[in-house]
Amino acid sequence: MLALCDCNNFFVSCERLYRPELRGRPVVVLSSNDGCIVSRSDEVKAMGIPMGEPYFRIRGLLKKKGVTVCSGNLAMYGEVSSRVMGLLSRHTDEMEAYSIDEAFLNLPGASVENPVEYAADIRKKMDQWVGIPVSIGLAATKTLSKLASEEARKYGAGVLQITEETAGTVLDATPVGDVWGIGHKSAIRLNRWGIYTAGDFIRKDSLWVRRAMTVRGLVTQLELRGQPCLPLVTTPPQPKSIQVSRTWGNVLESLDDLHCAMTDHVLEAGRQIRKNELAAGAMTVFIRYGYHHRGECGYFTEDAYFDNPILSDVELTRAAMRILGRIYRPGYRYTKGGATLFNLSGANYRQRELFDSDAHERRALYERLSHAVDAINDRLGGRGLYPASLAAGGWKWSPRKEHKSASRTWGSASNPASAASSPDPFNFF
Ligand SMILES: [Mg+2]
Repeated sequence: MLALCDCNNFFVSCERLYRPELRGRPVVVLSSNDGCIVSRSDEVKAMGIPMGEPYFRIRGLLKKKGVTVCSGNLAMYGEVSSRVMGLLSRHTDEMEAYSIDEAFLNLPGASVENPVEYAADIRKKMDQWVGIPVSIGLAATKTLSKLASEEARKYGAGVLQITEETAGTVLDATPVGDVWGIGHKSAIRLNRWGIYTAGDFIRKDSLWVRRAMTVRGLVTQLELRGQPCLPLVTTPPQPKSIQVSRTWGNVLESLDDLHCAMTDHVLEAGRQIRKNELAAGAMTVFIRYGYHHRGECGYFTEDAYFDNPILSDVELTRAAMRILGRIYRPGYRYTKGGATLFNLSGANYRQRELFDSDAHERRALYERLSHAVDAINDRLGGRGLYPASLAAGGWKWSPRKEHKSASRTWGSASNPASAASSPDPFNFF
């Protein structure tokens, strides 16, 4: 028996956690740079406002309808997500964190007598201890449990189990395009062949499905029939590269401003590489000038390769600054930039510099420093400790966040207003 636990309107629920006055009121959350709607409360869904709608186009309507608009705060959502996953992991011995707000849990039949009660208990704890509403679907396969969680949400039950007996009724009532793994395009093709519901789909001959939709279609069909084909992926795959890039909130022109922006991005990349216990054998830095959708635009970029893979902030930022110095050309209006770390290897399998023990000791010191900074920032949440030069640079690159919630714990470093008004006691390097 599998359970899929899915947080309801996750980003909106996170905002409501810190602004309880928003409960029961219409709320949307915007993507970076206040681009488009990425999360809607039930009240907003009921108004018929679609997901992914560009903010500028719908601004007036939202205002008229009294919808509260929040700029996305991914650092905070990530924190809440790890609390959600932490609580879930205590209820199973095998779990796949499928996305920021969803996880598959294995519920071994022997220890869980009544799965519905068990799931209802998880739901209650999630509400009391984390404060996030969730929907839980129970079934024999991933594809069915996904469907069950959607049904659970739709009908407000919170928990729904699809059993052998109830599967037929649910599948006959589900449009084939709503099935996990069947894309919009496949759904249109299936409709043309007279397959409208998930029930129609499972009754089709398997060989036909395989020929029409490749083996992926067949897997979906078998899973809908209750035959598990997709195992839980309990260890996330190692990243092949780590990229951090941003479209900046302001146009940057001077090398000093670019230094600040790039330092910020490289520090973030460094944090990610250390979290994955990796080291970088190479780095790309790029800066873009102009805007894609109007007029001239282009990139300056260059790679650097390291004899010994690096992972400390000091070494990563130094390398990035060297590249930046080479690719920067004055007279351009820069709008975006970032760094990619690649040729990644395990942090513990690096060669020692046999002939230069000074270099080795220096490197070990830098790495200890970076790990210490990470530990402090993990405890403070988000970014508490950062180089003073970033604040001195005035956060000109930080994305526009007109509607950012006044959260004291998260992302204060990337919030120009709070950085300017509150001297940071941890700001000592
Ligand atoms: Mg969700």
